[in-house]
Amino acid sequence: MHFRIVCAMFASLRTARARCNLDLVTNPSLIKFIETISAKLDEGAIVDDPELISPFTTDWTQRVKGNSDLLVRPKDHQGVVDVVKAAIQCRVKLQIQGGNTSLSGGSVPQAGEVLLSLSRLNSRCEVDPDTLMAKVDAGVTLERLQREAMKYHLMPGVDLASRGSATIGGMAATNAGGLHVLRYGSMRSSVVSLRCVWGDGTESPRNIPLAKDNSGISFSPLVVGSEGTLAVITELSLRLVPVSASRAVAVVPFMWIPEAVSFAGKVRRMTDSISAIEMISKRAIRVVEESKGVIFPIKDPFEIVLLLEIASNGNASNELTEILDGSLDESQSQSTLLGMDGGTLAGLWFWRESITEAIQRRGEPLKLDLSVPIAALGELWQSIDTIQKGLAGRLEVVRFGHLGDGNIHVNLLGAEDILKRAEVEIYQLVAGLDGSITAEHGIGTLKKEFLQLVRTERELARMRELIEIFNPGRTLNPNVLL
Ligand SMILES: Cc1cc2nc3c(=O)[nH]c(=O)nc-3n(C[C@H](O)[C@H](O)[C@H](O)COP(=O)(O)OP(=O)(O)OC[C@H]3O[C@@H](n4cnc5c(N)ncnc54)[C@H](O)[C@@H]3O)c2cc1C
Repeated sequence: MHFRIVCAMFASLRTARARCNLDLVTNPSLIKFIETISAKLDEGAIVDDPELISPFTTDWTQRVKGNSDLLVRPKDHQGVVDVVKAAIQCRVKLQIQGGNTSLSGGSVPQAGEVLLSLSRLNSRCEVDPDTLMAKVDAGVTLERLQREAMKYHLMPGVDLASRGSATIGGMAATNAGGLHVLRYGSMRSSVVSLRCVWGDGTESPRNIPLAKDNSGISFSPLVVGSEGTLAVITELSLRLVPVSASRAVAVVPFMWIPEAVSFAGKVRRMTDSISAIEMISKRAIRVVEESKGVIFPIKDPFEIVLLLEIASNGNASNELTEILDGSLDESQSQSTLLGMDGGTLAGLWFWRESITEAIQRRGEPLKLDLSVPIAALGELWQSIDTIQKGLAGRLEVVRFGHLGDGNIHVNLLGAEDILKRAEVEIYQLVAGLDGSITAEHGIGTLKKEFLQLVRTERELARMRELIEIFNPGRTLNPNVLL
C-alpha cells in the first residue's frame, strides 16, 4: 500500500503530505502511525526525507550506522505522549535520541525504529537562584544550561566536552559523568526530579523539585541511567552548584600509573577544593600534537600526566602551590606546568579537551570506557600494554580518563579483527579485576554482548523484568542495553 492512497482515505486529517514527502513511506504500520500523529504534532515535526534523516542514523564516532525511514521531533511533553501512544497502538518501535553524542552506539536506530528526537523539546530552561535549581526541557543542551546558570554565578555539577550538543535528557538517560564527578557526582546526584513518558504510554505525574522526599520508592533515580529503556524523559529539575571564585590548574608528569594514583590520593587528603584529576597518556599527548600542530611543553621522559584542578572561593593559586610543594619532589616540580589565569588555564585544559576529537581524526576508534578499583589501575594499564605487545604493532592504544574516579578511556585503532580480539581480552581482564565495562558512556548497542561479564544472570533477569513493567513489548529503545 502506498502512502499517497492512504492519505486520501484520511482527507479529514490535516494532510501530512504538506509537511514532508511522505510518499517515501510504504510500511503499513508506519503509515498508520503517521496518520495517527500527524493531526497532533506541529508543522515540521515529521520528517521522512532520507537526506534529512541521515545525520540522525550515524553516531558521533561514525562507527555505528543505523537506519530509519522516519524521524519525529515533538516540541512538548504532550507531543511525546502522543508519539508513544501512537507507537504502541500501531506496533511501531521508537529509538530515542537527544544530541546524538553517545559513544556506545545507544542513540542510533539499529533495525529501522522510528527516530524520536528530543532536539526540539527545548523551550524551558529556567534557573531559580533561590533554590539553586534549574527546570529544563529534556532537549536543552548542557552548554545552554551552563550559560543560563552562569547569569547567577551557578553551574551544573556535570560537565562534558560534548556540552555543545549533549542534551540534559540524554545526560540523565546515560547517567553521564565527565570532568567533575570527583567533586559533584554524576547526573544521578544532580537530578532532583523528572517528568517522563513510560514505555506503556502513561506519564509520570510530576516534576516537583523537592530536595527531600522520602514518600516511598522514588522513580526518578530508576530512569536515570536506564538508557531510554524505561521511559522518555521530557523535563528535569537539576541541582546547580556555585561557580568557584578562583581556579588554578597544574599538569604534573609521572613515569608510572601507581605513582600518579598515590599522588592523587595524597592531594585529595590535603584539600576538599579539588574539582578534577584527569589523566592523559603520552600517546594521547602525541595524538593531540599531531592533530593540532602544537608541541607539548613538558619534555620526555614521562609516561602520563595528571591535570589537577583546584576550584575554591579562596586563592586557588596559593592553595595549588602549597599542595604541590607538599607532594612533589624537586625534579617533578620543575617540569610541572601551572595555569593560574584564564588564558593559561584554558591552555592546559586544551590538552585534555582536544583528545577525543584528535583521536577521531585518526580513524574510527573502538572506544572502551573502563573503570576498575583505583588500586587495580596499574595492573589494568600493564595488562593492556601486554595485550598490545602481543598484537605486534597492529594495534594503536590511546588512553586518557578520569583518574580520580578509576575511569580510563581506552581508544583502540587498527584493523577490525584486531580490534575485536583486543576488545574481548580487555573486557575479560576488567571483569577479572572487579571493574566495569562502562564507567559512564553506558552499554548502548556496542557493549550489550559483554554485559554478562560484569552482571549476574539474576541481575540481568531483574533488569528485563523491570523493562517489561515500564516498557512492555519494548516500544522504546528495543535494541539498547539488553
Ligand atoms: C567529545 C565527547 C566527549 C564526551 N565526554 C563524555 C564524558 O566526559 N562523560 C560522559 O559520561 N560522556 C561523555 N560523552 C558521551 C555523551 O556526550 C554522553 O553520553 C551524553 O550524556 C549523551 O547525551 P545526548 O543528548 O547526546 O544523548 P544521545 O547520544 O542522543 O543518547 C544517549 C542515550 O540516551 C537515550 N536518550 C537520549 N535522550 C533521552 C531522553 N530524553 N529520554 C530517554 N532516553 C534518552 C538514547 O536513546 C541513548 O540510549 C562524550 C561524547 C563526546 C562526543
